[in-house]
Amino acid sequence: MADWLSSVSYGPIPGLLTELRAAWPPRAAAETSGYTTTDLGAAEPIAVLGLTDRLAVAIAARPEGSFAAVPVVRDDPWRQAIAGDGLSAFVAGLPLASERSIGTDQTNESIVVGERVIVKWFRIVGPQPSRAPIVAAHLESIGFRETPRPLGTVDWLAPTGEALTLAQGDAYLAGARDGWDWCVERLERHVAHESAPCPADCDPWIGGRLGLLVARLHAALRQPSAVITEPAGVADGSDVRRWHAAAISTLDEALRLSEADPSGRELLAAVGPGMRADIDRLVACESIAIQPVHGDLHVGQVLEWPGGLAVIDFDGNPALAAAANELRQPAERDIAQMASSLDHVGRIVDERTTGSRHQIVDEWVARTRGEFVAELDADRALLAAFEVEQECRELIYAARFLPRWRYAPLATLRARYRG
Ligand code: ADP
Ligand code: MG
Repeated sequence: MADWLSSVSYGPIPGLLTELRAAWPPRAAAETSGYTTTDLGAAEPIAVLGLTDRLAVAIAARPEGSFAAVPVVRDDPWRQAIAGDGLSAFVAGLPLASERSIGTDQTNESIVVGERVIVKWFRIVGPQPSRAPIVAAHLESIGFRETPRPLGTVDWLAPTGEALTLAQGDAYLAGARDGWDWCVERLERHVAHESAPCPADCDPWIGGRLGLLVARLHAALRQPSAVITEPAGVADGSDVRRWHAAAISTLDEALRLSEADPSGRELLAAVGPGMRADIDRLVACESIAIQPVHGDLHVGQVLEWPGGLAVIDFDGNPALAAAANELRQPAERDIAQMASSLDHVGRIVDERTTGSRHQIVDEWVARTRGEFVAELDADRALLAAFEVEQECRELIYAARFLPRWRYAPLATLRARYRG
């Protein structure tokens, strides 16, 4: 396996920071497969990790104590690095290996090195230490194997004294597809050939299998390790009130943002009271167990590959503020989000389905969701409240970034509250 270089400290390269400042902001390469950064703005780099004399990672300060990490390559004078420049191959300890970008639609930038290692570069880091390496190290020490093997990280010591992870390397699982592919495909094939038996590798009844996987993941997250010595805890009344207030404000925000969309407005006017009542069920919940959770658990985070299933991406939900990304939360958070995403798999397929086949999708959603939840020991009131909050988060995400996604949470809410 790769000889990951995170343990090597990258010493200061004299004059590099001054040189980079003079070339700031680094131009983007003509190709699109760059380690694209968000709003570099005018902020100058405050630090630089010099890897070699031509490869570096510049760090620029952003508002609210976070930092933009910008992989750069010397190219008369410096530009943003792209796959093929050798930066990820270098940190993975495979300097001669190939590099390719994994494609679009990611929060961060992942580069596959030599088809053996995947290096994920975080675009924005801090101020809190990154969640993913802590969870990955914990799972590794517990011996949880249903996640790609973590190989190492590239860390930067921020002025605050926090070690912030700029990049994380994992074993690359060849042939892996994420759940928005493999779950959707299974349901599509089921809908197309409902009466014909599905081949074993395309069994549409995935709920129980996913439920057992999440149960094993949560059991591993709950075990003490040298990394997380006291994983399990109990939430008190003030935590519950905080979750309740956050869920209500998420609901209100979703309702407000949906005002502009006539179909959404009408549906939400009808189902809003039921949603609010489910969130209010939180108030009566007491002594709720908390533990480290995945933090952004949807079907897209479950890869299917020839070795089985693998859970990835423990970085939390990038669309949420730090408080909503706390490491320790009720396991029902993850369960609600996964249940909601299974429902959305149904809605995606339903959009492409006609006539009487809608019923097949509805039955699949009900059975799959039921079989998933049946494998988990979830508090029903918590689950209902968090599921509503999750649909509201999806509506907010759709309103802000992806209007064409709105149909999925709306269809889920319509099915749940209008029957
Ligand atoms: P992001 O934080 O950008 O969502 P992810 O860690 O979820 O990044 O990875 C993005 C995509 O990269 C995944 O959906 C999957 O297709 C692919 N991927 C991630 N890790 C691996 C891996 N270890 N092996 C194979 N593919 C992977
Ligand atoms: Mg992801």
